[in-house]
Amino acid sequence: MIPDTCQSCGMPFTIETRGTNRDQSFNKDYCINCFRDGKFTNHHLTLHQLEIELLEMAEMHNGITLEEAQQIIRKLPELKRWRMENI
Ligand SMILES: [Zn+2]
Repeated sequence: MIPDTCQSCGMPFTIETRGTNRDQSFNKDYCINCFRDGKFTNHHLTLHQLEIELLEMAEMHNGITLEEAQQIIRKLPELKRWRMENI
């Protein structure tokens, strides 16, 4: 089963935008923008940076609205990649 949102950026993803593992199989947790060839595309990304990026995308009308960005931001701490930061 594929989750409907990427467990890193919180954006919805589909079969076509799944990330890839090192053996080129598909990763079911992360989208291709976040996870490629078995590793995160941006290792140094922090939750805070991601929030800023989402808001910038919304400001530039780049695929999401401000409301959607805010909804995603609220969900981010529950995602697999970021849960650790709350411990
Ligand atoms: Zn992603």
